[in-house]
Amino acid sequence: LPEEPLDLENLIMDVRRFYLESRGRKDADFKLSLPDEMPKIRGDLSQLSQLLHNLVSNAYKYGHKAKPVTVKVEPNRSGSMLRLSVTDQGDGIAVDHIPRLTERFYRVDKGRSKAIGGTGLGLAIVKHITQRHGGRMEITSELGVGTTVSVYLPVMKESATADESGKAAGEAVTNL
Ligand code: ATP
Ligand code: MG
Repeated sequence: LPEEPLDLENLIMDVRRFYLESRGRKDADFKLSLPDEMPKIRGDLSQLSQLLHNLVSNAYKYGHKAKPVTVKVEPNRSGSMLRLSVTDQGDGIAVDHIPRLTERFYRVDKGRSKAIGGTGLGLAIVKHITQRHGGRMEITSELGVGTTVSVYLPVMKESATADESGKAAGEAVTNL
């Protein structure tokens, strides 16, 4: 992975712009919730933008047409992981199916899903990319209410760089 932190906010804005400009979505169809200070993560720009595209595309495909999709970024409780989640208000997924959604070519066998079309690779790719970034994935869903797919990615440790920048043993480092 690149050494430099990834500009996640810019990545999200690019995906948002794609849906607004090329997919005819309205401003209100794409809700954003970003923290005041973005946790820094290391990541591959094209892989993480594919990951977000896959999640947002599912949210629009399987969510209700008139309901917005929400992309949210927040630190987890300890601040060690960043949670990136995409929430839709749609039919939801029966709990028995959820463990299999990240299998390649697995699609929930419903008339609606078949009619919508897709290859069943999107979430398998999301899982693969998440793992390559040292993260994990979580899916929560409620039938008739909607679905949230979250990925947790490790946050860069700011103070770790002080150790590598040539400080003598026993020297105190105070980050202000
Ligand atoms: P592809 O992404 O390859 O075009 P796909 O969308 O069918 O095809 P996945 O993104 O891997 O494949 O999703 C697998 C299946 O999980 C979908 O076919 C659908 O049945 C179900 N699914 C995924 N996301 C949602 C969601 N947000 N709400 C309801 N069902 C979902
Ligand atoms: Mg998909």
